[in-house]
Amino acid sequence: MKRILVTGGAGFIGSHLCERLLKEGNEVICLDNYFTGSKQNIVHLFDNPYFEIVRHDVTSPYFAEIDEIYNLACPASPVHYQYNPIKTIKTSVMGAINMLGLAKRVKATMLQASTSEVYGDPEVHPQPEEYWGNVNPLGPRSCYDEGKRCAETLCMDYHDQNNVDVKIIRIFNTYGPNMNLNDGRVVSNFIVQALNGENITIFGNGEQTRSFQYVDDLIEGMIRMMKTKKGFMGPINIGNQNEFTMLELAQTILDITGSSSKLSFKPLPQDDPKQRQPDITLAKKHLDNWEPKIQLREGLIKTIEYFESSLNMANNKNL
Ligand code: NAD
Ligand code: UDP
Repeated sequence: MKRILVTGGAGFIGSHLCERLLKEGNEVICLDNYFTGSKQNIVHLFDNPYFEIVRHDVTSPYFAEIDEIYNLACPASPVHYQYNPIKTIKTSVMGAINMLGLAKRVKATMLQASTSEVYGDPEVHPQPEEYWGNVNPLGPRSCYDEGKRCAETLCMDYHDQNNVDVKIIRIFNTYGPNMNLNDGRVVSNFIVQALNGENITIFGNGEQTRSFQYVDDLIEGMIRMMKTKKGFMGPINIGNQNEFTMLELAQTILDITGSSSKLSFKPLPQDDPKQRQPDITLAKKHLDNWEPKIQLREGLIKTIEYFESSLNMANNKNL
């Protein structure tokens, strides 16, 4: 049995990861400051004697005897990471330093949740790992993009200088149950708007693209990455290659929900990437033929079910 620390464990991805790691017979410490995460996401794990939660902020050091660290702590939605940009970059950079320091001390392996945002508004399409990216260091997305880029650099330096076993994955847009109703990212926004009969907010002309991955596929990729041999650090892209415009996403959600919501066009946020699609050649090669199994429509159906019950719960509480 391994003892595994999941920072950001009460968030969307972290909560799925905690559940999976417990199912595989591990002991899990979930560390979170609940900025965007919620106890609701992990409450079903509270009865498990191998599950422990710690209210802590990764910008401060944390000490525990552990075998592995999944470093996920960081707000991921533009709305939330832009709320307090200084805190966001501190979370990425100081969080990585603190977790890498811990990994060094206890000889743990650390997996860093990096992001497709390291490619910025990409000029190479699809994006392979060797592409250095096109990131504005001074724009509203920089606190997140540059924070994650610096966290990758720190992983590389702790590996080279201190022989820390690190693994870097670059996660592409992921969605699924346990996303917050007010998460602010496109999939949750469109679903909540469609279910509430509100206008669907399309930013720009809706022709920009993203490649959406269902959360279970990501978790499988993360677990496989952690199991790669010592010294293999990536980075590895983890994402679904099927690319959609925001208009196509909106239409699919309207079809599934049967909603009569109308489209409402809003200004495109500054530095919003025009396109994004992962090249997953390396993931297939190094992660035992890993590839996404769940395609958009199937994943959206499961996610919409989750949001329907979350909205019902929220409405009942307000009665
Ligand atoms: P999320 O906002 O649901 O989860 C982030 C979690 O980290 C939350 O529980 C939050 O409370 C916690 N957190 C934030 N700051 C913290 C701090 N200073 N100390 C301790 N805990 C803190 O987002 P998510 O989508 O689950 O993202 C998880 C990780 O995956 C993030 O690092 C994100 O950058 C990365 N990622 C996600 C996506 C995606 O599409 N979901 C894409 C690329 C990368
Ligand atoms: N977007 C949109 N309507 C929304 C929220 C987002 O059209 O209500 C667009 C956004 O401008 C971007 C895409 O959807 O082009 C994905 O945005 P998200 O915030 O989900 O993630 P990211 O931009 O970080 O990929």
